[in-house]
Amino acid sequence: MKARQHPHPHKRQKLSVLTGRLRQQARKITGPRQAILKILRAHPHPLTSREIFAALPRGLCDLATIYRAMHLLEEMDMVRRFDFGDGAARFELVGEGDDGHHHHLVCTKCSEIVEIDECFPAEIEQRIAVKNKFKAVSHKLEFFGICPECQ
Ligand SMILES: [Zn+2]
Ligand SMILES: [Zn+2]
Ligand SMILES: [Zn+2]
Repeated sequence: MKARQHPHPHKRQKLSVLTGRLRQQARKITGPRQAILKILRAHPHPLTSREIFAALPRGLCDLATIYRAMHLLEEMDMVRRFDFGDGAARFELVGEGDDGHHHHLVCTKCSEIVEIDECFPAEIEQRIAVKNKFKAVSHKLEFFGICPECQ
């Protein structure tokens, strides 16, 4: 997946802060987990487990270890999972004090990803909740289109 650099200031965290958060949660900081966080920190867009695997030093761990680590990091709210409808879960680092909620605009031709800060007005969610007698309504949403370079 091609990833053009986009500024994402809240993602720039010190690795020591991240591993500190791991430690706080009383989990063992394995070499692979620390290496995964380092890779996610260096990438402004969501990565698949396979992309993370490809970016890790050879022989550090196998793909199954990465799948397990991503599941654990997601449970710890350190990464957020995104689904672009192609069957591959993608992960992004969640900043401290940030719920990680945002959306992406994905080019259907070259897979370029743009980070989108805009979101639905809260009234829409409230209206949907009230209308259907639901509580704690949230949403997941990604946008697709054709980027300027592919037009
Ligand atoms: Zn494109
Ligand atoms: Zn993102
Ligand atoms: Zn949203």
